[in-house]
Amino acid sequence: MSINGRCGTRDGYKRGCRCGRCRSAERVHAQGRRDRARILVANGTAPVPADRHGKVGTYTNNMCRCERCTGAMREYIRSYRSGRGGRR
Ligand SMILES: [Zn+2]
Ligand SMILES: [Zn+2]
Repeated sequence: MSINGRCGTRDGYKRGCRCGRCRSAERVHAQGRRDRARILVANGTAPVPADRHGKVGTYTNNMCRCERCTGAMREYIRSYRSGRGGRR
């Protein structure tokens, strides 16, 4: 198996080459993915389909903090408390 011309790319790594250049190409790629995910969460701009907003699950699972999702969460907490017959 030859990976001539693919060294230093993720393709070389995927083809089984573990030389320094291929490993660093793979590492840079993995690092970039992690950074993007972190940035998305930090900015509260995780990709959520438009019709999923306004749900508690979107607030908790997708970390969405838009007006509709925070509103749904607030509503959920309120009904949860009153639903348990708490003191008035
Ligand atoms: Zn290589
Ligand atoms: Zn939302």
